[in-house]
Amino acid sequence: MSIPARQARMGEVLRAEGLDGLIVTDLTNIRYLTGFVGSNGVLVVTPASRVLLTDSRYATSARAQVQGAEVEIAGRDLMDRLAGVVPAGRVGIEAEHVTVARRDRFADRLAGVELVPTAGLVEGLRVVKDEEELELIRQATRIADSALARLVDQGFRGATEAETAWQLEDWMREMGADAASFDIIVAGGAHGALPHAVPRPEPIPADTLVVVDMGARHAGYASDCTRTLATGTLPPALEEAYAVCLEAQRAALAACRAGVHTRDLDSAARGIIAQAGLGEHFGHGLGHGVGLDIHERPWLRQEGGEVLQTGMVVTIEPGIYLEGVGGVRIEDLAIVTDDGCEVLTRLPTDLTTTTI
Ligand code: ZN
Ligand code: ZN
Repeated sequence: MSIPARQARMGEVLRAEGLDGLIVTDLTNIRYLTGFVGSNGVLVVTPASRVLLTDSRYATSARAQVQGAEVEIAGRDLMDRLAGVVPAGRVGIEAEHVTVARRDRFADRLAGVELVPTAGLVEGLRVVKDEEELELIRQATRIADSALARLVDQGFRGATEAETAWQLEDWMREMGADAASFDIIVAGGAHGALPHAVPRPEPIPADTLVVVDMGARHAGYASDCTRTLATGTLPPALEEAYAVCLEAQRAALAACRAGVHTRDLDSAARGIIAQAGLGEHFGHGLGHGVGLDIHERPWLRQEGGEVLQTGMVVTIEPGIYLEGVGGVRIEDLAIVTDDGCEVLTRLPTDLTTTTI
């Protein structure tokens, strides 16, 4: 789906919602709808028109990047031009992205406009990826895979968690990544029991598990992959945790296809971990969508959720965290298809032992 097609669908969404316009303030949503990459912008969309307000720092780049929208240069807070471009009537604001202070500033400037809180209107379009987006996510995944494969080959070579995280990011950038898609996690031994551990300046220990969670950003699109590596002979509790986590991860991958509810996919993995008596050690959801944002819809967990559709991109990442001992998480990134899923992350998930 090209940017003009996204804009046409946005117009249909506004009509369906009975809105005369939408003030888009989330920069990722603005990028999705126009191609604009910058740190300051407000996009005003009506069923038939689009105007991007940005400041003079982006005058040249916005005109080069933006498709299907007029670009107007405004003062730094973008408020001076707002009244001239927002239509009268019912106009949505993105309730999840607008501070109370900013909402009040909009209201001050837009007397006579009914500001309507909305949620997820653009995100609803973003949840199913088009072929161009899928190809960028595939490329981002290939970059991260190559860096992680290099780490598996070379081992940790006495490096600390923090040095290893930086090394992975350095390799990804060499291979063409814009950046890491999030702060890389490298967490050895008991530290791996923290699902979102921050790498420390501590050497990676022998005879334990190391959780490595990483991804690349390429042309705006993210990838996400976790492998948990052994650094020698494992204590039985970690060996068992790895085997159970892998079985759960494979069961969820096998169950992943269009038409399945996100809750049921989460259950496919959670049931196996619970059956092994480790249910209380798997506290987070099974996975999340990935696209322009590293974490976006659909959410694969017990609460809420939705039915998977062809073209969604999701992670499948059960984890088992044993406080004081260690942790395991195994994460693949996959495109949902009509009859299954296309797994993008290619590194093997069988327990791999690497040198320290
Ligand atoms: Zn991850
Ligand atoms: Zn993830």
